[in-house]
Amino acid sequence: MSDAHTPKAIDTQLIHAGEDVPARQGAVITPIYQCTVFEIEPHGYDDLGYIRYNNLPNHYVLAGKLAALAGAEDAVVAASGMAAISAAMLTFTCGENGRAPGGHLLHGGALYGGTHGLLTRRYAAFGLSHSGIDLERPDTWEAALRPETRVVYVETLSNPLLEVAPLGALVDFARKHSLITIVDNTFASPVNARPIEHGFDLVVESATKYLNGHSDLVAGAVMGSRDHLGPIHETLKLLGGTLDPHACFLLQRGLKTLGVRVRRANETALRVAAFLEAHPKVARVHHPGLASHPHHERAARLLDGFGGMLAFELADADLEATDRVLGGTQLFVHAPSLGGVESLIVSPARSSHALMSAEARHALGITDGLIRVSVGLEDPDELLADLDRALALA
Ligand code: PLP
Repeated sequence: MSDAHTPKAIDTQLIHAGEDVPARQGAVITPIYQCTVFEIEPHGYDDLGYIRYNNLPNHYVLAGKLAALAGAEDAVVAASGMAAISAAMLTFTCGENGRAPGGHLLHGGALYGGTHGLLTRRYAAFGLSHSGIDLERPDTWEAALRPETRVVYVETLSNPLLEVAPLGALVDFARKHSLITIVDNTFASPVNARPIEHGFDLVVESATKYLNGHSDLVAGAVMGSRDHLGPIHETLKLLGGTLDPHACFLLQRGLKTLGVRVRRANETALRVAAFLEAHPKVARVHHPGLASHPHHERAARLLDGFGGMLAFELADADLEATDRVLGGTQLFVHAPSLGGVESLIVSPARSSHALMSAEARHALGITDGLIRVSVGLEDPDELLADLDRALALA
């Protein structure tokens, strides 16, 4: 595609970026290359096209689109969000782009459970270490540094309280200390946040969520500079985190509607949040679009949309009352995960944070009456009526 025709607006990028020009045999949609290996010519033995290497046509088309959306030089697709996260983290916590032992990673307080598990259940065995920092206390970050600190890792929006990471301050700190910055942008998606524009080195996404949007595949991706992605690609090759071409095709199809899906979820989530905030059975609502959210101003500065995720606390509720509400919805499906066309509702205390003691959970603000919602694309009035009906059971 000539430079004059390189799409800049995200909705155009979603449709056209990364696609082959001219199209393969005139096909309007990239066909599926369900093929494990390519002929050695013309690329030679050093650039062999092999399915586990994530370097077949479907991988490249998808990577081109994801890179454009993130505002990054390039992207690598992976078998899952965790494949992308583990490859990025391990590569840079080990020094010299994954080739030297040891290394320490700093991370923002609350992390997705799988990421937290990788750090707490595997890092020490791999000879790596990690520590949490309080994202709201930049004055304490330097004290957490060690000579072997190499990475700062955060999530754009935290789970389940939707705290917004101070992206600019983290980048300044990391640059000062020559650290690699990695951010999990899954809750926001590139429609609502593009952390590369704020100076982050690498963005990881679980494409299983908003990017695909239909709750029917697992995939992940890392976006960044070619220099940073080279060693991550190598780690993925070695660990085997390959995305199947058929899943690439489905993800590419899902991606094309990302803009309309995310903006609609943004709008409906804001309505649901305002409705819940005014509801007598609800003590508190966590959504960055509400003026009452502690990071509302930061969210307005950093995000193009406040997202489709929210959490709310039932007034004076125990786990049993929470269960009655969760079991009382007819449209909201009682299930974890997020970012699909269907609205989902779940108890963090019973799911993502179930392994923590009640005290540790409560210290993080995750009460027994906390309910997390992923707002889908159903009619907003019917969603509100469904919640109202379920809340009567609290
Ligand atoms: N990051 C976040 C914020 C998530 O919520 C999840 C999954 O729920 C992941 C990463 C992991 O993604 P996957 O299940 O695609 O490996």
